[in-house]
Amino acid sequence: MTTATVEPRDMEWLEKGVLGIQWSDGHQAMYPVRSLRQHCPCAACVDEWTGERRLQADDVPLLIMLQDIQPVGRYALQFKWSDGHDTGIYSYTLLRALCQCDACQPVKPIEVKSRRLL
Ligand SMILES: [Zn+2]
Ligand SMILES: [Zn+2]
Repeated sequence: MTTATVEPRDMEWLEKGVLGIQWSDGHQAMYPVRSLRQHCPCAACVDEWTGERRLQADDVPLLIMLQDIQPVGRYALQFKWSDGHDTGIYSYTLLRALCQCDACQPVKPIEVKSRRLL
């Protein structure tokens, strides 16, 4: 792993509702957009003082769409959503942590739940 800052090099839609970002270190990341919206880091979605998430996963419309992407400086991306929300600034560090590819998320949350047999 390198400590140099990685940046998005390219973006494309991998499939409907799944944004792909190619990072400068060669990583091909994938982001289902609803999951991105659920992890919005803005002050309306996360309490600034306690870090508690105000936005519940079910608050995000199932058919949420990503309408626009704006670079913020050289460290973050700002997303504009179809529900009118556009205050979330996603730092590159956060985006890398949210990557849902098989290498980054070998165990999907839903599979963790299904392993509770007892
Ligand atoms: Zn937000
Ligand atoms: Zn990944």
